[in-house]
Amino acid sequence: IRGFVPPIKSNGGNTGNVTSRASKGDDALDDSTKRCMDMLCGPDGELPEKLRNLEPRLIEHISNEIMDRDPNVRWDDIGNAGLHHAKKCVTEMVIWPLLRPDIFKGVRSPGRGLLLFGPPGTGKTMIGKAIAGEAKATFFYISASSLTSKWIGEGEKLVRALFGVASCRQPAVIFVDEIDSLLSQRKSDGEHESSRRMKTQFLIEMEGFDNANEQVLLIGATNRPQELDEAARRRLTKRLYIPLPSSARAWIIRNLLMKDGLFNLSTEEIDSICKLTEGYSGSDMKNLVKDASMGPLREAMRDTKITELKKEDMRPVTLQDFENALQEVRPSVSVNELGTYESWNNQFGSLS
Ligand code: ADP
Repeated sequence: IRGFVPPIKSNGGNTGNVTSRASKGDDALDDSTKRCMDMLCGPDGELPEKLRNLEPRLIEHISNEIMDRDPNVRWDDIGNAGLHHAKKCVTEMVIWPLLRPDIFKGVRSPGRGLLLFGPPGTGKTMIGKAIAGEAKATFFYISASSLTSKWIGEGEKLVRALFGVASCRQPAVIFVDEIDSLLSQRKSDGEHESSRRMKTQFLIEMEGFDNANEQVLLIGATNRPQELDEAARRRLTKRLYIPLPSSARAWIIRNLLMKDGLFNLSTEEIDSICKLTEGYSGSDMKNLVKDASMGPLREAMRDTKITELKKEDMRPVTLQDFENALQEVRPSVSVNELGTYESWNNQFGSLS
């Protein structure tokens, strides 16, 4: 919430005066903050230990803006032809352990950090949400660039609040988009003091939940894996390459059109669209289908008004619509970038 004034003044690094429900400061919290704190209280009506020294407004921000109670994505929503390896890794490493912590301990204890890397728009965020959905885990989404830009000076505290709330909401998945901007191997003299502290805090928190055997998984996503430093790589134990879709392109077209009852293309027509969309990302494909689906509407509008248009009079989407849309929607990833991902994958990726 922009311009939100902290209900209780922070006294620097140590804000231990604020959050226990029983504390005097409670009266000073506004209703929405109070509600949010109440939801995090245990059956005894007390705030969990981990949250007691955190600022309520940060906890509220995490609960309202970053926590997503229902990510609403399943594996079946993702065109995962070509992502079988990723799916297998994720199932074994993440979903099973989150569902059966009793089996995954000791030598079987899973890694707590997963890196998804590859070009933008290939479904990394969707995969993160699907993992949380399949494992019935609470999903926390944060973009690292917003941490470094919006929360200047407070990032470190926000990181503590994020991991604190996540550990009270286990099983939990923390998804950090553009994780490279948080954990990059920037030269320390050029690095801002506050972002250095935030990075350190982040690594400490990760180390912490690894040791404490918590049901919290951290997923980092990046288009620039080469910027991650050695410490970050070490903590993100599984590193999966999420490439541009190949055969999944056909799936995306079919899936999106079928959902809306607009599908009427032959296998040959789909094949030719796939040939024409070599190098398109999943997100480019979505934009292409969107644009193509406007074809029948634009045509119908030549003889009628939008208010009088009957849905059933519109024809299905055709190959020609796709050919027209291809003029408008161009691929967003350049072929030159792909080599970088592949070589990083060969060097640091989890093998397929
Ligand atoms: P990334 O996190 O890799 O940048 P996203 O997960 O945000 O990509 O994908 C952006 C959008 O593109 C998604 O909301 C989805 O509509 C579409 N998309 C990308 N990849 C796929 C895929 N493999 N299957 C289905 N849709 C996809």
